[in-house]
Amino acid sequence: MDRGPRWLFLAGAILTAIFVARFGWLEASLGNGAFLVGALGLGMMGYCTRPQLGLALGLVASALAWVIAPPSLPPRPIPDNLQNALLVIWAALTAAVPAATGWIRGRIEAIASQSRALAFLASIGELATVSNQERELLEGTVKAAADKGGYALAMIWTSDEAGPEPSAWAVKQGRLRFQRKNGVWRLEFEGGRDRVQAEFTEELREKTLAARALRSGHLVECDRAANSNDPIVALARALGGRALAAAPIRVRHQAFGALVVAAEDPFAFRGEAAVPLEEAARTLGQALERLWLEDELMLLHLTDPLTGILNRRGFENRGRAMLAHARERGEKAALVFVDLDRFKEVNDTMGHHAGDEVLRQAALRLLSATRTRDLVARVGGDEFALLLLLEDPGVLGRITARLYQALARPYNVGERTFSLDASMGVALFPEDGATLEELLRKGDIAMYQAKEGRRRIAFFDAESDLALKRRLELEAELRTAIEERAIELDYQPVVAPPKGLVFLEALARWKVPPSVFIPLAEEIGLAWPLDRLVLEKAIEQIVQWRKAGLSARVSVNLSPRSFEEPELLAFLEEALSASKIPPGRLVLELTERAIFSTDRTALFEKLKTTGVQLALDDFGTGYSSLILVKDLPLDFIKLPREFVRDLPESERDAAIADTVHRLAHRLKMGLVAEGVERPEQIESLKAIGYRLFQGHYFAKPLPPHKAARWLSGQRPAY
Ligand code: C2E
Ligand code: MG
Ligand code: MG
Repeated sequence: MDRGPRWLFLAGAILTAIFVARFGWLEASLGNGAFLVGALGLGMMGYCTRPQLGLALGLVASALAWVIAPPSLPPRPIPDNLQNALLVIWAALTAAVPAATGWIRGRIEAIASQSRALAFLASIGELATVSNQERELLEGTVKAAADKGGYALAMIWTSDEAGPEPSAWAVKQGRLRFQRKNGVWRLEFEGGRDRVQAEFTEELREKTLAARALRSGHLVECDRAANSNDPIVALARALGGRALAAAPIRVRHQAFGALVVAAEDPFAFRGEAAVPLEEAARTLGQALERLWLEDELMLLHLTDPLTGILNRRGFENRGRAMLAHARERGEKAALVFVDLDRFKEVNDTMGHHAGDEVLRQAALRLLSATRTRDLVARVGGDEFALLLLLEDPGVLGRITARLYQALARPYNVGERTFSLDASMGVALFPEDGATLEELLRKGDIAMYQAKEGRRRIAFFDAESDLALKRRLELEAELRTAIEERAIELDYQPVVAPPKGLVFLEALARWKVPPSVFIPLAEEIGLAWPLDRLVLEKAIEQIVQWRKAGLSARVSVNLSPRSFEEPELLAFLEEALSASKIPPGRLVLELTERAIFSTDRTALFEKLKTTGVQLALDDFGTGYSSLILVKDLPLDFIKLPREFVRDLPESERDAAIADTVHRLAHRLKMGLVAEGVERPEQIESLKAIGYRLFQGHYFAKPLPPHKAARWLSGQRPAY
């Protein structure tokens, strides 16, 4: 009835009722003009439910009545039976029209509200993939509920000890505020003529619809009697809501909170119609779970569990950002590399616990000797690195002296007190290096210079830098080696016990270990020439094996730089078609750094069109973002050796292995555990659900003729 004023509808009903009940009397006084009364009444009622239809009906009926008997003319007798028939028709129409229009309107509204609910659901799906923060996700959800879902009110309540509390809210119209003071929530709503004010004390919070949904574990709709003291019900009414429901949000099988929405359609949450809301709450729960996983992984990856300060990854991660910032503003910075002297003695004579305690104390002292904006990290056993922003480079001498003194103070461990010295190497940004890697390297070199020269603090000095000379020689040698194709490949099996080989990973071999020459190649711009050589050699090897009747799938590692190489795609297409090997026989291993440095999705989609498979190497050691992984067409994820090494003892590594497994399982990607050396590691990984393994336990990287034995099935039993 809300299309027209209530009094008009009532007046129409009264006129119609008089017309039906007192037709004789009306006719006696108005003549056939009595029909006008009926037409007017009917029209007024119709107008209030469906204005156009009501007006039209009323007008047509009035016109008819006029034609049959214009009121100004003397009454024209109408035969009794016709008159009765007309009377019955009027009565039927009077009842049927409002009912029918009401029903049709109800259907149309139900369909519209369903499609809005679906639009809301779709936008949560979208939010779930783009939000990086919990707050962003929650705010986005309630906003989408009001904007896309057309809900009059949308709220997310999250649980704390005193019951659920409002965490995000949005209204379609008006202004809604929640404020928390001394543990009590105050609600204030203003919109049009309506005002609602209420307070949520602790006991009230337990009684809200959100709390009921949380307790019951499924969607609850408000029934008026039970919730008469819930201010949210009053709020929903003031907003024009005629149905109110709460769906629980569960994360990791636990109650997280509830999604509460009010709809104008009274049937918005009846039966099937409630499904989109339930789905929305479920999707939200999954998205939250993903964010939590991501945060946990981040934290685990970026901090050192022993001291609580950043680890090397955390240092690189934050350090790069800090340098980028400094570069933009033309600021200077210093990298200080610190090594505790005679730390090994402490470990050897007093045990690991004493050693750990010293490291913890040293970390604390470094933290308190620096400003909050500086970075302090443990980057190796007894090595620390600091990155300090310098507004005034003149103070650097004083800062390093302060750091040195902080570390030289006596350490108390248990009953004993002793002193340690520290050696510090300093490299300056941007003078000594433009990137964090370079600064770290030069800080390290300077630190050794300090040790050798029996100095405490040494600034990097290129003149006397032997390591630098050695590096220049190595650089030249590497260039020639690549030109002369003098890089060899070993192949390490990836296995699925007890069935056997899944694929072989090609690993580059040269006179120094890959951990030395790969970063060097990257630094001097030879990453792609090196990777291209390895790709060519691996493809040649596959062809050769095929000729010998052996079918091999081989993975090749690519540097992030190689993914930025414009030639990569064309090279692959050409090499694959020239060699005629099925493209699925080639797997490209990429690292997370590659994902970040390029327009990933487009490139990877294109790579997939060549038919090659993709594996993500070193998962979780970069700036792991689960979102990115989710969008990529990956065939395999590899759990790095560092998370396998301390299994089954390390609970932290077990947690990471489990998290990565859940992720890979959900995304339906193959998962390879790297670096397995001991049967206990395999047992614990198998218990988590791992099926694919790589490591010395099964086979070391092998020269081609030995790898061929794996291909022909003459492999050792395990
Ligand atoms: P990766 O791709 O993670 O390769 C696995 C590394 O783990 C290899 O080291 C392998 O020898 C080693 N490994 C395998 N099983 C075990 C085990 O049970 N215990 C231990 N301790 N180690 C194991 P490698 O050959 O030294 O290679 C180091 C890294 O160098 C590779 O890590 C990869 O990122 C990179 N690399 C190797 N070849 C190439 C290449 O051709 N191109 C590029 N861009 N990078 C390469
Ligand atoms: Mg690899
Ligand atoms: Mg790896």
